[in-house]
Amino acid sequence: MSSDTRATTNAALAARRAKAVPRGVATAHPVMAARAENSEIWDVEGKHYVDFGGGIAVVNTGHRHPAVMAAVAAQLEKFTHVAFQVTAYEPYIELCEKLNALAPFKEPAKTILFTTGAEATENAVKIARAATGRTGVIAFTGAFHGRTMLTMAMTGKVLPYKRAFGPLPPDVFHVPFPNEAQGVSVEDSLKALDFLFKADIGPDRVAAIIVEPVQGEGGFHPVPKPLFVALREICTRNGILLIADEVQSGFARTGKMFAIEHSRVEPDLVTIAKSMGGGFPISGVIGRADIMDKAEPGGLGGTYAGSPIGCAAALAVLDVIKKEKLLARADMIGGRIKDRLARIAMRNHTVRISDIRGPGAMIACDIVDDDGKPDADAAKRVLQHGLDEGVILLACGTAGNTIRNLVPLTVPDDVLELGLNRMEAAMIKAKGAL
Ligand code: PMP
Repeated sequence: MSSDTRATTNAALAARRAKAVPRGVATAHPVMAARAENSEIWDVEGKHYVDFGGGIAVVNTGHRHPAVMAAVAAQLEKFTHVAFQVTAYEPYIELCEKLNALAPFKEPAKTILFTTGAEATENAVKIARAATGRTGVIAFTGAFHGRTMLTMAMTGKVLPYKRAFGPLPPDVFHVPFPNEAQGVSVEDSLKALDFLFKADIGPDRVAAIIVEPVQGEGGFHPVPKPLFVALREICTRNGILLIADEVQSGFARTGKMFAIEHSRVEPDLVTIAKSMGGGFPISGVIGRADIMDKAEPGGLGGTYAGSPIGCAAALAVLDVIKKEKLLARADMIGGRIKDRLARIAMRNHTVRISDIRGPGAMIACDIVDDDGKPDADAAKRVLQHGLDEGVILLACGTAGNTIRNLVPLTVPDDVLELGLNRMEAAMIKAKGAL
């Protein structure tokens, strides 16, 4: 039976979901989306929310940006799928040309397109292995690189991502990500890398080190610049490729097109997805041309990889970022969010927040208890009260106590203000519920 015209409720859909969809795919909020526009979402009961989750970093240009919708509509009139591996098409080529021009390194670039973030990170490793003839991959604790077998192995968190899903592919290693709160310094990370080279795999067997310039799921922790500089030096000295995973941090979120640009360190490969397509599935790997050409023809690709719909959307996204000056806008929005969080932190009327951080508009803070320890329960309460107030909030972080903000960079000032008011109200209520 079609449910198109049937009035429904969040609870009724939740019951249907529980019967029809396995628990393995978790949903952060018990509300069901009916409509979304720019930085706002309405649920099936007509309730309004300011969207501070941005579809997990996918809509930096907002939901249904008119330019993205128009580009997709125009492509729909031409063709929706022919498979790039059967007959190539201009939108794919043009998108790669534009991304090559944006590559955060000096050498000539080439780009290959896929569909999801995990496909991008997985293929970056394939390319690195083909280019170096080596197998080892080093990632960081707290990292998130995807849920497929290889990317799950690279993801640096056992629960909920790895347990019960092994055996994991071999030759993937982790070193601790620097985190002051966890007592891990840059020196500790580098020492661990050195130990790893001595104990587990020599640097001459390592194909790539993969790192998120700002850890996303891990809690919006930027890579400290000295670590980035040291990684670049270690990679160059040992013939290891440096992969910047920009799936969450890319496309203007941090006030630069790619977050690694803040460090001025140049990666060899860059993985991109999420906000690249403005709400349509598309991903890719940008890399130094000499590296990118090492894999044999037929070794890379995928039936839907670089879908013409996704390419049309991504081309429009690049235009929107430029025309609407979203790099500068990200700094402005981030400044306002940080100001509000700082003002909240100075008073004693909400749950306790600490460590307000992040570049551009990739902003997060931690919810802590009176002893300054991570308080994931209080963070959960903030999310729940956020729904009542009308704001979609997202948690993250290895302890689950980080509240991140991924509001579209196209958010109007008054909607941002409304969202911040609602977030503050949720934080006040979450304290009351103690
Ligand atoms: N890398 C990073 C940094 C991510 O944040 C994510 C998704 N959260 C992925 C890879 C995987 O992307 P996808 O879910 O599209 O496979």
